Amino acid sequence: MTWGWRKILSIRNAVRPSFWSIIRSGKQTNVWSDNWCHLSPLRSFITPRHIANAGFNLQATVAEVIDENGQWKWPQAWYDVYPVLIGLTVNQQDPQLADRMVWKDVEGHDQHFSSLEVWHTLRTRDTPVKWASMVWFSQCIPRHSFHLWLVIKNKLKTQDRLAVWEVGSETNRRLMCCPLCKHGTDSRDHLFFVCGFASQVWSNIRMLVDLENVNDSWTSIAVWMERYSDSKRFKHIVCKLAISASSYYIWQERNNRLFTSKECTAEQVTEKIKNIVRLRLMGFVYKGDLDYQRTLTKWQNLCRASDEDPG
Ligand SMILES: [Zn+2]
Repeated sequence: MTWGWRKILSIRNAVRPSFWSIIRSGKQTNVWSDNWCHLSPLRSFITPRHIANAGFNLQATVAEVIDENGQWKWPQAWYDVYPVLIGLTVNQQDPQLADRMVWKDVEGHDQHFSSLEVWHTLRTRDTPVKWASMVWFSQCIPRHSFHLWLVIKNKLKTQDRLAVWEVGSETNRRLMCCPLCKHGTDSRDHLFFVCGFASQVWSNIRMLVDLENVNDSWTSIAVWMERYSDSKRFKHIVCKLAISASSYYIWQERNNRLFTSKECTAEQVTEKIKNIVRLRLMGFVYKGDLDYQRTLTKWQNLCRASDEDPG
């Protein structure tokens, strides 16, 4: 059996309670093992031995256990053994129609089957973290957001984390140093933005947005993110774009230097960030907003000025 099928089959127990049959003729629904009434599956309390002794087989459908008078065919004695069955009424709506399958959501409502409904039912739920809207917001740049999410969770493969995994020999580890400033091993807190190179880029960007109170330390950025994560104000959205773009391009520069011979100056990295933020701003739907017009003009002038100044 392939890996894919094994994975699909392994979630059977998780999805089974959500598959429900709406009985119309009862001919497509297994009376013992399918979900079709409030006692389902009946097999959870009626033993296979009792089923066989009463003359039924395990493949019987709901229709097959209803007699011509519309009563259950099972023996009277079952009502003494399983008194819950007394409350189970026959509800065969239309002998001509096929039963209908539905998906029961977490609240117990019948839904049309869709991958979205299944995901809502199966996914684990947690209380949202304070910085969630810092990473994912409608104007975000998805690849920057994904990167920032890794930064916040401290999951980037920085040198301090590689050292913990005992990667390479002792000598290799001692040779590891931040490719941007060549001082010490790199780490999340070093790269964003204490590192000499990163701090230069960050201070170029910081003065273009409303982040004067934020310094080079990751703690300071984390405090800002928690405070303004949910803000819908235009100036805060620009700050969010600037933070995620800065961390994205600094990380890209770090990797370029580590794995290729390409090297950019702090000014060149700053330009990349300015350009991507400007392009994103141009696609906004804030068009009538004065604040928006002013900011966009400022960013366009910034980029124009640097285009004209090749140095
Ligand atoms: Zn550094």
